[in-house]
Amino acid sequence: MTSAELTNAALTEQYQDHLLGVFGTPQRVLSKGKGAKVWDADGNKYLDLLAGIAVNALGHAHPRWVKAVSDQAATLAHVSNFFASEPQIALATKILELAKAPEGSRVFFTNSGTEANEAAFKLARRNAGTEEKPRTRILALENSFHGRTMGALALTWKEAYRAPFEPLPGGVEFIPAGDIDALTAALDDTVQAVFIEPIQGEAGVVELPEGYLEAARELTTAASALLIVDEVQTGIGRTGQWFASSNIVPDAMTLAKGLGGGFPIGALVTFGETNSHLLSAGQHGTTFGGNPLASAAALATLTVIEDDNLIDHAQQLGKWITAQLEQLDFVTDVHGRGLLIGFDLDVDTSAAVVTAALEHGFIVNAPTPKTIRLAPPLVLTQEEAQTFIDELPMIYRRATANLSAPSASKK
Ligand SMILES: *Cc1c(COP(=O)(O)O)cnc(C)c1O
Repeated sequence: MTSAELTNAALTEQYQDHLLGVFGTPQRVLSKGKGAKVWDADGNKYLDLLAGIAVNALGHAHPRWVKAVSDQAATLAHVSNFFASEPQIALATKILELAKAPEGSRVFFTNSGTEANEAAFKLARRNAGTEEKPRTRILALENSFHGRTMGALALTWKEAYRAPFEPLPGGVEFIPAGDIDALTAALDDTVQAVFIEPIQGEAGVVELPEGYLEAARELTTAASALLIVDEVQTGIGRTGQWFASSNIVPDAMTLAKGLGGGFPIGALVTFGETNSHLLSAGQHGTTFGGNPLASAAALATLTVIEDDNLIDHAQQLGKWITAQLEQLDFVTDVHGRGLLIGFDLDVDTSAAVVTAALEHGFIVNAPTPKTIRLAPPLVLTQEEAQTFIDELPMIYRRATANLSAPSASKK
């Protein structure tokens, strides 16, 4: 094949001929990145305001991340979990320190968010109660998203994701998100665990009401049910804190997206001795999870976030972007924290805005018909963000013009 054929159009056709169609048609074929910028196969440049959905915390090709991954690849990439490795041990130690996890807390590494939640699901099942008083129920929130594998899918609210794959693991009940009374009513000594995202990312960056997480902590403790926070999207500095749930101590926390800075790795963190002992030798496992290469990538990510003060930066830049968005007359609401931001449009045109933004050189995403999500690299500069703010009114006009364009075939 000649390089002339490696265009967006030609590659997209090949993609469609060779890859399973679960993601629909890709918007572009991307070929390289640097910092917060990426280039497609035709050489067009984009400001990446999505970062692989909250993944590329350090942006693309960060020199310290590249060096850590390259050095580790040249040293020891993978070993079986019959053996340990230094990066894995250092990473677990670092995560527990950042999470201010109490004595007895432990880490289990996975390759993705859904796998971290599968591990958490199995942990929840081990809170089994007694023979006379068994625990069999798990509570999840309406509008939740926890992943696409069977266990995590059972915890995921959207009917269209779940229905084609039933029967799923049983016992999961959904309760209204953020409703303390509903949680109180559903919780008793038959509940194994409650799963909560501190901010519901896939639902459109929806925050829980102030005090809900604290109430959930008190209520689950009283019922001896586990409180499991899914920080797959919100964790690792994304919200301007290391973890969005850091005002409480959960029983377990799941991580993935930002953890590896682009290298696939996830984690289940169990808090305290009792919770850590719920899963014992032989009860769970993984071949790849926490291998030296993935662990080195994650360690480099955490180290750079710390050294470069990216948590404070995410907080400040997030506030600045939010303030700018709030001034636009077609933006009806801005929500989220740090650099996980959702903003609502005055008309349901988010898909058209995503397309128009791409044509203007910006990558954003539409989790709902009215909401645009921003989850840029934590290294994004205010100057870069300013370029998006400046062009957003034009992008919006282009999107809405497309929508209202007269069409002969449609009424
Ligand atoms: C993305 C996401 C998942 C699933 O992670 P994958 O790595 O795609 O399996 C789980 N929970 C939350 C909150 C997420 O945002």
